[in-house]
Amino acid sequence: MIIVMQHHASDAEISAVVDEIRKAGLQEHVSRGSELVIIGAIGDEDRINPGHFEIMAGVERVTRVTKQYKIVSRDSHPQGSVIKVRGIPIGGEQIQVISGPCSIETQDQMNISADAVAAAGCRMMRGGAFKPRTSPYAFQGLGIEGLEYFQQAAGRHNLPIVTELMDVRMLDTFMEYDVDVIQIGARNMQNFDLLKEVGRVNKPIILKRGLSATVNEWLMAAEYIAAGGNHNIIFCERGIRTFETAYRNVLDVTAIPVLKRETHLPVIVDPSHAGGKAWMVPALAQAAVAAGADGLLVEMHPNPCDAWCDADQALTPDELKALMVTLGAIANAVGRTI
Ligand code: PEP
Ligand code: MN
Repeated sequence: MIIVMQHHASDAEISAVVDEIRKAGLQEHVSRGSELVIIGAIGDEDRINPGHFEIMAGVERVTRVTKQYKIVSRDSHPQGSVIKVRGIPIGGEQIQVISGPCSIETQDQMNISADAVAAAGCRMMRGGAFKPRTSPYAFQGLGIEGLEYFQQAAGRHNLPIVTELMDVRMLDTFMEYDVDVIQIGARNMQNFDLLKEVGRVNKPIILKRGLSATVNEWLMAAEYIAAGGNHNIIFCERGIRTFETAYRNVLDVTAIPVLKRETHLPVIVDPSHAGGKAWMVPALAQAAVAAGADGLLVEMHPNPCDAWCDADQALTPDELKALMVTLGAIANAVGRTI
């Protein structure tokens, strides 16, 4: 930690800071410049609270040197982590495209969707049984009945299933239904109690980025899960809120290389919730793969016009198939496969 003293800090104020550093079991390193005194606190930074120094007389500002996220940091694991979902790797050379409808509607809809996901060459399927809707009057998802339909449909093609957990009280049910990957949605990225609970299970977690979350907040949210013992975390960039209103959200492509540098964990991208329109999905998906994403989460519906949720952004089965072909060429260009 670095403590910058105010211009006219007195020797007594400097000594008081040094005493506090020593009391915490760290060593001080005092640099006296012509204008400022800067004090470095050397040792385990977690033993001192920056706020404690910020309020001391004569202190201008306090800066942490080490990162607050430890387990998810690339410093703790220089090689990238590969997370296996029933043997399917996420984070390795092969890019995984997880596709399926926004919400689970009927058994038929799920069967046709599963057929289309498999036919397009995707190896995992998505579908929401519990939907976080802006309006309490909008369709909220089929709940447990939806999980039944999902398992039935995906089972026919042996596709692992990805579905969102909104309420910690449903976690046991998710375990009973053997949900393969638990999605924590954008709106719950900082639901710390939920993060702690999914940190105690051994299922891979897709952690979506909050609508207005910084990269640091997102990494810290992942650290909550990791701190509980579950290190199988996959980051999912799904667009953030900005001043722009021409599209649903702004896909933060920059976050992909930044996260890949900061964390050893896989990073996937959801181009559907980013753009909010089906016609934008191929361009955003391609950009994500080119920028180094380890996978994609893409909404697809057998008949988008009839979708109960997010109809505008769902690809048709044929559009998904076509997208997979174009992604193959981009993946190869960046040394990956699809
Ligand atoms: C979803 O993937 O179904 C979803 C609701 O996404 P987000 O949490 O990113 O809005
Ligand atoms: Mn959706």
